[in-house]
Amino acid sequence: METDLRRTWTEIDLDHLLYNYHALRRRVGMGVKFLGVVKADAYGHGAVQVARTLQDAGADYLAVSSLDEARELRSHGITMPVLILGHTPPEQVSELIRLGITQAVSAKAKAEEYSAAAEKCGGTLKIHIKVDTGMSRLGFLCAGEHFEGGVARIAHSCALPALDAEGIFTHFAVSDEPGAENEACTRAQFQLFCDVIDALKAQGRTFALRHCANSGAVAYYPDMWLDMVRPGILLYGLTEMAEELGLKSVMSLKTCVSTIKIYEPGAAISYGRTYKTDRRSRVGVLPIGYADGFFRTFSNRFQVLTADGPALVLGRICMDMCMIDLTGCPNVGVGDEIEIFGARNSVNAMARMAETIPYEIICAVSKRVPRLYYRGGQVVDRKLWITE
Ligand SMILES: *Cc1c(COP(=O)(O)O)cnc(C)c1O
Repeated sequence: METDLRRTWTEIDLDHLLYNYHALRRRVGMGVKFLGVVKADAYGHGAVQVARTLQDAGADYLAVSSLDEARELRSHGITMPVLILGHTPPEQVSELIRLGITQAVSAKAKAEEYSAAAEKCGGTLKIHIKVDTGMSRLGFLCAGEHFEGGVARIAHSCALPALDAEGIFTHFAVSDEPGAENEACTRAQFQLFCDVIDALKAQGRTFALRHCANSGAVAYYPDMWLDMVRPGILLYGLTEMAEELGLKSVMSLKTCVSTIKIYEPGAAISYGRTYKTDRRSRVGVLPIGYADGFFRTFSNRFQVLTADGPALVLGRICMDMCMIDLTGCPNVGVGDEIEIFGARNSVNAMARMAETIPYEIICAVSKRVPRLYYRGGQVVDRKLWITE
């Protein structure tokens, strides 16, 4: 039996994804390669469908966080280059080689383990060197006193017999944030990255793919695009940067009205009795809750969109349901569609209300929510976790 798609669902607009891809492509020009970041199930949009769309559109590379994510792409017909940004245990190197996956390498010890493992299985592992220029996460430490040692460790790693160092990259901490201090930090990170590349070049080590531009740098730092850009959130049309660039949000989260009831003044709504009706109220029950990714922090604050205008969430959001005020929306009836976020109710504004970033809101849409893929206004594909 199929899931009831009319409970709560997302609509993924693949036309918008393609629009964003082509707009970003035009922005960086054909001389710059394009890596689409599809980690975390393509930020909740569905990695296979997004990757397939990008592959067909001519993107050059994809990035994921883990071998499991890479394997999912390969087992669904994605043949283009894929880079794993996170760590993969050396025991899995033969699998990386078999699947033709590129691995980020962030330390000399890991490079040695990877090379030994690749040698053992008689193959060569394609790698991209990750340089820590100030994000203080993964990567060869090269700042300040670590410069010479860092460069030497990278050179040593690239020269290992069973590794093929195709690329080198770094990641920015504040390229998407305005202000002179953030710009200075980003420029310092970029300068250090260039210095590392130059020092390696002086030793005869060059890379086909030098990359550092996440969405922030794609939007604000054209001089940092190098050989390849690496945007994630811009592809999905979110953040103020996407608004400035005229991109389109790809995901909408929708639900419907399951019940409507009338309460007299003084009725307490939901757990904790945090909302009491102050008038005769028409209250709708929505089959969406925090288990679907509709955070409890939106209780009593967030307005969902009905065909008859916005409607406030009343009382606490429950695990599987929440209540909304339909008193001012007399034309909304049982079964009517409700937009939690999407074209009209922006994720960006929702993220500001929750004091978080749009990334967290879209990644949190839970796996029980079906994804419906649209092209030309028609559903062309579906992704359902619960199919029996
Ligand atoms: C997630 C990630 C990106 C994409 O970041 P956006 O801000 O979504 O563009 C790029 N590079 C690395 C290393 C990442 O982890």
